[in-house]
Amino acid sequence: MNRRLPLLEGRAEATTRCTYCPKLCRPACPVSTVEGRETVTPWGKMRAMDELLRDVEPAEEASRAAMAWACTGCGRCRTLCLLDNPVVDTLYDGRADALANEIAPAPVSALVAGWDERRARLEADARGAGLVGEGAAVAVVPGCRAVREDPAGARRTVRAVSELGGCGAHAVGGECCGAPLWDAGDREGFFQQAARFVAAVGDRATDLVVADSGCAWTLRTLYPRFDLAPERWARVEHLAETAARHLDRLRPLDVDGTVAVHDSCRLGRGLGVYDAPRQVMERILGRAPVELPNSREQASCSGGGGLLPITRPATSRAIAAELAGEVREAGDDVGVVTTCTSSRSRLRRAGVRADDLAEWVARSLGVTGDPG
Ligand code: SF4
Ligand code: SF4
Repeated sequence: MNRRLPLLEGRAEATTRCTYCPKLCRPACPVSTVEGRETVTPWGKMRAMDELLRDVEPAEEASRAAMAWACTGCGRCRTLCLLDNPVVDTLYDGRADALANEIAPAPVSALVAGWDERRARLEADARGAGLVGEGAAVAVVPGCRAVREDPAGARRTVRAVSELGGCGAHAVGGECCGAPLWDAGDREGFFQQAARFVAAVGDRATDLVVADSGCAWTLRTLYPRFDLAPERWARVEHLAETAARHLDRLRPLDVDGTVAVHDSCRLGRGLGVYDAPRQVMERILGRAPVELPNSREQASCSGGGGLLPITRPATSRAIAAELAGEVREAGDDVGVVTTCTSSRSRLRRAGVRADDLAEWVARSLGVTGDPG
């Protein structure tokens, strides 16, 4: 084979380990659960990476490479793997090698090719919505989806963070942290986008408060891993953590009905933050939120991560429907609070009452309507 797979070659031990494993993690994977196919179990995907490293017919390379994107990056397989095998890191290295060899799936290549256009749109939307600021010590990252889909909600989030901290905060809505490029396997593009994001945060900010768990995970894990975060960033936390540090500022709300916390993959398994959203919701509700059938380390994915919505849209929707079924299992009238904007949108589309934790925090602080 003439391909160059420098990153995947470094993962040969991991791919071999899976190849000889009795597939302990099989029940964990949302992709193989809904597709019901062995080839998209964590084992099957690691085997595809192993085959790419060996002699695979040129005509079959793209189909093997596509397996690297049959993954939401949820990390659930690792919770059942006694060998602690790094499936996600391996598949993501496979993505980077595949993209470099021009054998990535078409929607992924299109995302990378259209990145500048997407950036320009986000910048214009954020400026138009008043979600680009500077000069404060606290920078609030509302997340690209929030800027696009719910700018008033994003403005409430910025105001809520100001109320929580008792000081001013500015929004960083016009530049993405770069997570979609990381998911695409475009490492160089990701590094360049990270530099733009750091510039957009500004020279004065020392604390970042992040509303979306995917962005929080990117800023807390990938930025330090590649030395992308400036030293002046003293604290980067998810809004759930900020609110949990200021519980006394949250006012209880009069809430009817049952509310459950959904542990998003990136905040829960990704950053190990499980208690903060529960503490915040207990304070606001005056009672503990209910638990979904799968929670904490075993929480179910909503199917929105890892670019699955563009590479396997039907599978992605089916995973969201599974999670919606789980919510209904917890009770007919259960509403969900999540820390992942994508999960919120997907659960709503699947017919579930779902809100961002940021919305609850804002309401509890009396930040309602459109703060402008
Ligand atoms: S990830 Fe772990 S449990 Fe799953 S197939 Fe690989 S080695 Fe086995
Ligand atoms: S990270 Fe999640 S989607 Fe990816 S292989 Fe593991 S369990 Fe499956």
